[in-house]
Amino acid sequence: MLCRCGEEAVIRLKQYRRSFCSRCFVEFYENKVEGFIRKHRLLRPGERVFVAVSGGKDSASCLAVLKRLSEKFAIELSAFHINLGIGEYSRRVEEASRRLCEKLDVELEVVDVKAVYGVGVEEVAKSSRRKPCSACGIIKRYLMNKIPRELGADRLATGHNLEDTVEFFFKNWASGNYFWLSKQKPLLPSNHPKVLTKIKPLFERSEKENETYAKILNLPYEEGKCPHSVVSRWREVGEIVEERVPGFKLSIARGLEKLNIVVDAPKFKSCKVCGEPSSGDVCSFCRLIGRV
Ligand SMILES: [Zn+2]
Ligand SMILES: [Zn+2]
Repeated sequence: MLCRCGEEAVIRLKQYRRSFCSRCFVEFYENKVEGFIRKHRLLRPGERVFVAVSGGKDSASCLAVLKRLSEKFAIELSAFHINLGIGEYSRRVEEASRRLCEKLDVELEVVDVKAVYGVGVEEVAKSSRRKPCSACGIIKRYLMNKIPRELGADRLATGHNLEDTVEFFFKNWASGNYFWLSKQKPLLPSNHPKVLTKIKPLFERSEKENETYAKILNLPYEEGKCPHSVVSRWREVGEIVEERVPGFKLSIARGLEKLNIVVDAPKFKSCKVCGEPSSGDVCSFCRLIGRV
């Protein structure tokens, strides 16, 4: 397997009908992300962008590629990490996040949920009788908006990849959840003074691409999965179809980018306990961690 340049290839991308050597792949990847950012106007000069780093390969690649493009787009880059208090796993991903930011020379803010709120994801899930992933989702969504905003962020970037996009699409489409589907976009503009604009620069980049990029650049990241993670059947459906129709996942993502369904958004109030935006009187975070 050879690259177009004649070098030995390290990755084959069927959806692009091409094989790449390390050097050509890095160039390809960075050009793709840059073009995507321009096409969807994900960045504006002079803004402060926070990247949510989880310790995994996708957010590591997201931070690294934005760092390389930060001068071109004239943005200021910071990172933040949430320690969710899931035992040894949380310790390892925090450590990986610290090493990543050190290597890339990006300022990192770490929020330790247990230290600040007295409880971690597992305790909260048990006491609220929720699945850990559901409790985790509420905590992450809340802190990923609140902490960077308080630190002066203009927008928040996450490492959501192509498979996340496809899984989300199937899940919400199948359950008729069109409001959530309408929010599945590379750029989600703020709709409230306390809600950050969110961007997903890796919306069209597959897990395999992010992993290859992270490996070539030798980025520190944690390979182990969260002990609570389960492989979604919708993710598997995406893989099965992709096997038969290379490029299928990419076409789902591109379809979503064009999708323009207007769904009545719930009106935001302010949470009576913490003051953050909420659809009810008390936000789901405060209800979850038992502040009520
Ligand atoms: Zn090459
Ligand atoms: Zn609240």
